Amino acid sequence: MTVQFSTRADGPHLRGIAIDAAPTGDGIAARHLIGGQWQDGAGRFLRIDSPATGEPLGHVPLGTADDVDRAVAAAEAARAELVEMGPFARAALCMDMAAAIDAAADEIAPLLSLEQGKPLAEAKGELGAAALGFRNAAEQIKWMETGVIPLADPTKRAHSFLQPKGVFGIITPWNFPLALPCLYYLGPALATGNAVVWVPAPSTSLVAYELVRVLVEAGLPAGALNLVTGDGAEVGDATVVHPGVHAIGFTGSTATGMTIARRGAGKPLLLELGGNGPTIVLEDADVELAAKRVAAGAFGNAGQICTATERVLVHESLHDRFVALLVQAAGDVRLGHPLDAGTTMGPLNNAAALDKMQSHMDDARARGAKVLAGGGPAKGLPTNLYFEPTVVTGLDADSLLNREESFGPVVPVLTFADEAEAFRLAASSPYGLSAAVFTRSLAAAYRFTEKLQAGIVNINEMSSYWEPHVPAGGASGTQSGLGRAGGRHTLMEMCDLKTMVVDIAV
Ligand code: NAD
Repeated sequence: MTVQFSTRADGPHLRGIAIDAAPTGDGIAARHLIGGQWQDGAGRFLRIDSPATGEPLGHVPLGTADDVDRAVAAAEAARAELVEMGPFARAALCMDMAAAIDAAADEIAPLLSLEQGKPLAEAKGELGAAALGFRNAAEQIKWMETGVIPLADPTKRAHSFLQPKGVFGIITPWNFPLALPCLYYLGPALATGNAVVWVPAPSTSLVAYELVRVLVEAGLPAGALNLVTGDGAEVGDATVVHPGVHAIGFTGSTATGMTIARRGAGKPLLLELGGNGPTIVLEDADVELAAKRVAAGAFGNAGQICTATERVLVHESLHDRFVALLVQAAGDVRLGHPLDAGTTMGPLNNAAALDKMQSHMDDARARGAKVLAGGGPAKGLPTNLYFEPTVVTGLDADSLLNREESFGPVVPVLTFADEAEAFRLAASSPYGLSAAVFTRSLAAAYRFTEKLQAGIVNINEMSSYWEPHVPAGGASGTQSGLGRAGGRHTLMEMCDLKTMVVDIAV
């Protein structure tokens, strides 16, 4: 029997995903990993269909709070072994994981393309980034020194050291279903000696399962990483509130992040949330460079990147030239099946993502904006999730495209007359994750970087440029989250600083 799942209060996370009583068909039959054992759970399964073809790819268990409970117990039991291994042995384990991911990359990449929707070349890049998540963590943990603390009392000595927080609950989204968990959480958690309960996004759970299979084969200790699939509003929430979960790492939408902050009140939280960063093209900018990099930042991964170029504020004198170049760049995008050679952009991942794009476009049209390229799903492709690369101009600051995160391949262009207006427009959205500024002036680059509310500001580069050891995250006072992801900064977030004081006079 196949039933449709109803929309949940916290978001339509299972919209359009069928629930089956058994993993029927030829696809992948994924399972939970709990305490080193592959398990089916309570006997209901989500059927995962490809956004590229509409065809089923396989099933994952629809987990319950009981599954989470067992996963937390398994993680708790694994903690001591991870701590006893010490940082160098854990670093070696992470290097083995990285090598195993590299070795499996060609096999897993096509599934990542079919399940998430990204072109094969991007999927291969994502596998490389997933391996890098473990490799970086392995490198960093070996050299993370802590301090000796001078004291007033000459008979005492004090020093601090890093201790893992314990059991980390990790909840991740579908836009980078492998790279993001590995870079932000799984590598850093295991390197620092934390045990993990991982809840991946439902629509990309098959590829998460395949990743975990590779990690198990590479020597993952039983219980060190547990995988529980299902509805985030159930298994994610059960993880957040579980008393045996000591800390939460969450990447996803601001709305879910706010729920998690309430439900996990009192626990350490690493929250990487939504973004709607402005890219600002100043009067003295190299307009060709700006248009090229804006297009890359807006259309990469079909715009489903938290730091994507979500909106562009361009000096009024450059508008016409800039927009013409952008329309040309949109025309160069090859929208198509993610496994076809030559495809540069695939479908959106799911129906909720499409709905959001459509509602933002409807709002723009109702306000009289001009759609210069794209504007909706392409015709003649296997599903309606293939959204055309879109350029919109003539927008006002209140439009949804300007205020809210669209998370799709759209570039809304607004104009400004002077710096004051540029700053006003930049601040007209509540997010503060990333921004970009195009200018030839070093002084302007610093002026904007210091004043913009964003975790990272790229100068003469697209807003989504990032290397995994660079700290990134939301600016305080915005809705983009708290804490920093990136290299040693994440490792620090995953540890408690413990201080030891010794009286040497006794
Ligand atoms: P989402 O918030 O809908 O879901 C994220 C995860 O949370 C999923 O695994 C989901 O199942 C789970 N979840 C849902 N309800 C829950 C609940 N009540 N309790 C616990 N877990 C729950 O986000 P999404 O649509 O999967 O991802 C897109 C969003 O992620 C965008 O807003 C994007 O900007 C953001 N994102 C941020 C970063 C960053 O680094 N800041 C990176 C990538 C994506």
